Formats: sequence, C-alpha cells, structure tokens
Amino acid sequence: MNRMYAVIAVIATSLACGKSLAQHAHVHGNAELQIAVQGQALTVQLASPLENLIGFEHAPRTDKQKAAAQALGERLARPDALFVPSRDARCTPHASVVNAPVLGMNGVIEGRAEKQPSAQAGKTAHRGHSHGPKKGELGGEGHAELLAQFAFKCEQPAALKGVEVRLFDAFRGLRRIDAQVAGPAGQKAVRLSSSQRMVSW
Ligand SMILES: [Zn+2]
Repeated sequence: MNRMYAVIAVIATSLACGKSLAQHAHVHGNAELQIAVQGQALTVQLASPLENLIGFEHAPRTDKQKAAAQALGERLARPDALFVPSRDARCTPHASVVNAPVLGMNGVIEGRAEKQPSAQAGKTAHRGHSHGPKKGELGGEGHAELLAQFAFKCEQPAALKGVEVRLFDAFRGLRRIDAQVAGPAGQKAVRLSSSQRMVSW
C-alpha cells in the first residue's frame, strides 16, 4: 500500500509543476529532465525519444530488439544507477512510473498531452499559437517516446546539493539533456552532455 501511495504522490507532484514535459520537442539525440526537490522528496522526470534509448521507436520485432527493450526495462528498474544524488543526502529510490506504450510499458503519467491537436481546435480558442508537438512529430508517424518519473526519498535533504546524471553511459544515443531544477534555491536550467553530467544547486 505504501508503494501505491508513493506512486500517486509522484503523479500529484508532476501535476503541480505548471510546465509539464508535454511541451518538449521530439528531437533524436536530445532528452529532457525535470528535477524537483521538496523536503525529503527528490523527483526526477525523464522524457526521451525511444531512439536515444534503444535505437528504434516501434514495438520490438526481432530478437535483438526484444533484448534491447528488456535491457531498457532492467536499467529503468535501477534508478539509483542512472541518477546519483549527493551521497551525504542518503537518498534511496522508492517509486517509479514508466510510460512507453510501444514497448508495453504502461505506467500512466498524468499531465501528458497524448492527442494531436486537430485542425478544428486551431480555429477556436488557440488561434495564433500552437501547443505541443507539431503534427507528425509524435505518435502515429513512426516516432515514440519514453516518459518516466523516479522518486527518491532523502534522509538528509539539507545535504542534497545535486544529482549526477549517468544516462549518457547507459544510452549511447543520447547527446544532450536539457535539465530543469526546482529546488530550495529556486529554479535553474542546465544543459548536460557526456562531459557535463552534474546538476548542482
Ligand atoms: Zn523519433
């Protein structure tokens, strides 16, 4: 029951963050992270094209693809190997939600716009600007993404000064990560690469 409560708490946190991952663009090589610190809770949200993580963006067909999808699932099951918070903060992962429907990973992450804006919708309330990915960028046109949320609980939150992001070691298709932090010191944005993997605050 505790675990279920934790998952719900993570979802609630994501809803509370005004700008969700729904607004990001689908660009191969790029991914986005949102890191939130609130009391003992450290939440990391990842949005990435599947191409970066497994090299394809459809349901696995060959044995090689099936093995890649399985390996991805195993990696995501160990968030403490992908994200390393300040050691002294003594953070441990306690809840994860992963959503990648084409791989059969169907953890629901609320706040994500899944449907394409229709031509009709553009004529009414949102005339003059658009929301979300352009038509054809995402969904139904051969592209697919993974969205994941990892919640950590930190015993010494005062010692939590940053997170080392080790995704570049795990996923060689990743070139760049745009990270946003919302924490005790306010908000900041950091661009990560294989040579810059530390998010500090
Ligand atoms: Zn794609």
